[in-house]
Amino acid sequence: MDRHHHLPDDLLLAYAAGSLAEGWSLAVASHLTYCLSCRQRDGALEAIGTAALEEMPPEPMDAGAFEACMARAESAEAEQPGNVVAGSNTPAPLRQYLGCDIDAVKWSPLGGGIRQHLIETGDETRARLLFIPPGEDVPQHTHQGLELTLVLAGSFADGDEEFHAGDIEVADETVDHTPVSGPNGPCICLAVTDAPLVFRSWLPRMIQRFAKI
Ligand SMILES: [Zn+2]
Repeated sequence: MDRHHHLPDDLLLAYAAGSLAEGWSLAVASHLTYCLSCRQRDGALEAIGTAALEEMPPEPMDAGAFEACMARAESAEAEQPGNVVAGSNTPAPLRQYLGCDIDAVKWSPLGGGIRQHLIETGDETRARLLFIPPGEDVPQHTHQGLELTLVLAGSFADGDEEFHAGDIEVADETVDHTPVSGPNGPCICLAVTDAPLVFRSWLPRMIQRFAKI
């Protein structure tokens, strides 16, 4: 799988259908507060889903129905402010989980200046905030499942790609990477996984047992 700065259709479709596990839903909902183009696609998918339910038994979709839905979502969007809390970099869905802004969370050290804050979900997904000092790298790792990483503050580089506030990276077991925090201030991100990461060296492997990464 390639890395993305936006949500792939299959994730958005599952989100629109309400069938996504809790941690993924949190990352998707939080990304949507930043991203007009994903909100428009989500709105169109929801409209199509609703129309399909209302018109049972299913009928073939009219030519141009998808475009019409997109246009409706776009015009509705123009009237709506984003729901990132004013003066805060905490997306509203994330704030509900944290009970506070990112500035007020309690961090646990992971070594190398990297800190985490675990977020409770009601299922197998694991969600956490990560605080990575400027220029610090996350130890090289690959994945056994999916990993969604939403940047909330600062930035990180992964190979030749840069991710800034609001960007989301989608990585799976085909991605082996060493993300590096940008030089201008710490990178704070929301990371969601459904299986432990696979680190390449022994120290992070030892730490991860205690840190539930
Ligand atoms: Zn997007």
